Amino acid sequence: MLLNDLITDKQDQLTVDSALDAHITIHNDRPLDMAIEIMNDHKVDQIRLLDENEEYAGTLTKADIELYCMTLNDEEKWRLFCDESSECKVIEAKFRDAKATFNMLGIAFCEIIYVQKVQIIRWLNAEAMMTFGVNIDDPISKMLTPEIWDHLMEIFNTHGGVDHERIKVRSRVYDVTLMEVELLGQRVLKLFLNDVSELVRLGDELRLSLERKIEHIAHYDGLTDLPNRLLLLAKLDHAISHPKRPHEKVVVLDLNLDHFKDINESYGHAVGDDVIVQVAQKLSSVLGRGDTLARVGGDEFIIVLEGLQDVLKSEEIVNRVQALFDNSFTVGEVDFTLSASIGIAAYPDDGESGEILLKNADIALRRAKDDGRNKYCFFSSDMSVQLFERVLLERELRRGIEASEFLVYYQPQVSLQTGKLTGAEALVRWNHPVMGIVSPDVFIPLCESNNLIIPIGEQILRDACIQVKLWKEQGLFEGRISVNVSGKQFERPDIVEVIKVIIDEIQLEPRYLELEMTESVLMGNPQIFGEKLMELKTLGIEVAIDDFGTGYSSLSYLKQFPIDKLKIDQSFVGGIPHNEQDMAIVKAVIAMSKALGFRTIAEGIEKVEQAEFLKNFGCEQGQGYLYSRPLSAEKFEEFLKALV
Ligand code: C2E
Ligand code: CA
Ligand code: CA
Repeated sequence: MLLNDLITDKQDQLTVDSALDAHITIHNDRPLDMAIEIMNDHKVDQIRLLDENEEYAGTLTKADIELYCMTLNDEEKWRLFCDESSECKVIEAKFRDAKATFNMLGIAFCEIIYVQKVQIIRWLNAEAMMTFGVNIDDPISKMLTPEIWDHLMEIFNTHGGVDHERIKVRSRVYDVTLMEVELLGQRVLKLFLNDVSELVRLGDELRLSLERKIEHIAHYDGLTDLPNRLLLLAKLDHAISHPKRPHEKVVVLDLNLDHFKDINESYGHAVGDDVIVQVAQKLSSVLGRGDTLARVGGDEFIIVLEGLQDVLKSEEIVNRVQALFDNSFTVGEVDFTLSASIGIAAYPDDGESGEILLKNADIALRRAKDDGRNKYCFFSSDMSVQLFERVLLERELRRGIEASEFLVYYQPQVSLQTGKLTGAEALVRWNHPVMGIVSPDVFIPLCESNNLIIPIGEQILRDACIQVKLWKEQGLFEGRISVNVSGKQFERPDIVEVIKVIIDEIQLEPRYLELEMTESVLMGNPQIFGEKLMELKTLGIEVAIDDFGTGYSSLSYLKQFPIDKLKIDQSFVGGIPHNEQDMAIVKAVIAMSKALGFRTIAEGIEKVEQAEFLKNFGCEQGQGYLYSRPLSAEKFEEFLKALV
C-alpha cells in the first residue's frame, strides 16, 4: 500500500491546522506505519508527500488514514504493525512499540484545543467541537470537569507541561498532552486530546491474544505442538465424563521409545528432537479423528482412544502403532531403527479418573519394558501391588546404601585336580535390620533397573579387594578374588578407570582380580565392550564369562573377546549325572573352551559325582556347596585358617 494511494484528494488540503503545524515532507513510496509514526512523533495531522522527482504529490491527512483504517478489521490493523508469527516475547515488545502507532490506528483523532490561561477556549478544531459540544469562547470547564483540569494544571505547573496523561471524559479514554505555545503573539496552552478508547480496547484484545499464546504454551508441547500432560488430563477427564456412547471404554496407551536415550547421547539432542517430531507425525497418521495424541515427556507419548466397546479392540491400533517402527527413521545421513513399548489401561476397569488411568498405563508400560521392550502390556491390578512393593523396596535400598548394609560373602573356588583353593567369588548380601540377610536375587534385578547397582557394585568391589589384600598380607589367601560386574556398571564409559583407581588405592596386584560378567552383557555393545576388555587385559585383570551356556552361546563370537575363563552355569551342572542333554552340553562346552584357549570353571557343584564328571572331562576349577556355601568374611577367615 503506497501512501499515494491513500490520499483521497490530491489537491493541497491545507486547512487552518496547517498554518499552525510545521510542514513535514516524505516520499510517497514509504510505508504507512512510517507516516503514522512521523505524524505521532511530530504531533501533526498531515504530511506532504513528494514523488520520485521530488515533486509535490499531495497531502496525506489523518482523515485519509482513518478512512483507510476503517476498511480494515482489527486483525488486519494488527497485522499491519505486528508480525503474527513472532513469539510471545516479541509480541510483548511490539505491543509497547506499537502503542504510539495505535493512537492513530484507533479512530482516535487529536482534538487540538487552544486554551487561554484564563481557561477560555480560543480555538478548536471541528472534531473537538463535535465530540465535546463546545465552541470558541466557551470556558474549558464545559468540557473538562474542574477536578480533571486542576489535576492537569498541577502536573503542568510541576513539570512545565503534561505528557500523555490518561483521563476519562464521558466514558471515553483520552491521552492528554498540554504545552505552552505562542499563537498570534499570545502565550496560550495547546491541548491535545487523543481518544485512545480504541487503543485500550485493542490493547485488551492484544493482551487477550497474548494470554491465548501463553495458554497455548501452557497446554501444548513446544516441539511437536501436541497436547501436553495438562491438556491431556483435561481431555481424558472430559472423555470419561462425557461418553459418546453408553458403556464405552476410554483406552489409554502409554508409549515409550526403547533406548531413545542412546540416540540423544550418541547424536545429540537436535537429532533426538528430529526423531521425536517424526514419531509424533507417524503416530498421528494412524489415529482416528476422535483419538488424542499427547507428548508427556522426552520420549513418552499418550494416546487416548474413545468410543471403544471392547478394550481388546485397542490391540488393532497397538499393532498399527508398533508397525510404524518397522521402517527406520532418517535424520540427515543417519538411519535409526526404533521400537516402542506400550502400556495399556482402560476406563472404567482400570481406573475411574484420568490421573489413575495414566498411572496404571505407566505401570503396564514398565512391565512391557521389563519383559524385554518392543512389547505391549495390558494393566492388571496385581501389577500395582508389585509396583508398590517395588517402590518400597527401592526406598529401602537407598536407605540401606546410606546405612552401609551391604556385605560381601565369599565362596571358595577350588582346583578339581588337587582340591586346593584357587580363589573365591565375592557375592553381595544385604544385611537388612528387619528382614535379616537378603539374597541378591531379590534386589539385584531392581538395582539394575534403577542404576543403584552402580554404587553398590563399586562398594562390593572395593570391600572385596580390601579384604583380600588383608588376607594376603596375613598369608591366609593366595588366589584370585572374582567379582561380579553387571551390564549397567560395565556400560559406564569410565568403568576401567574406576576399577584401576580402586585397586591402585588398595595396592592389590591386578592379577589377583577377576571380573565375572555374562555373555549378554558383552553382546549388548560388542565393539565398545571389546575395547574395555582389552584395556582390562592390558592392566592384567582377568575376565570370566558367567552363567555360560544360558545366553547367546556363540562361541565363535566369544573368541573375539580377550577373555580368560568360562564359567559353566549351575543349571547344566545340576543335570549331572542324570540329564543326558545337560551332560552333553557340559562336555561340549569344556571341549570348546579348551580349543579356544579359555580356562573352565563349573559353578553349583553339590555332589561328588558332579565334581568327578567335570574333572574327567577336563574342567579345571569348581565352586559349589560341595566345597562350601558363600561365607561371611568372618566365617571365610575361619575357613582359610583351617586350611593352613
Ligand atoms: P551368580 O554370579 O551365578 O552366583 C552364583 C550363585 O549361585 C550365588 O547365588 C551362589 O550363592 C549360588 N551357589 C553357589 N554354589 C551353589 C550350589 O552349589 N548350589 C546352588 N543351588 N547355588 C549355589 P547368590 O549369592 O544368591 O547370587 C545370585 C546372583 O546375584 C549371582 O549369580 C549374581 O548374578 C548376582 N550377584 C551376587 N553378588 C553380586 C554382585 O556383587 N554384583 C552383581 N552385579 N551381581 C551379584
Ligand atoms: Ca558370578
Ligand atoms: Ca551363575
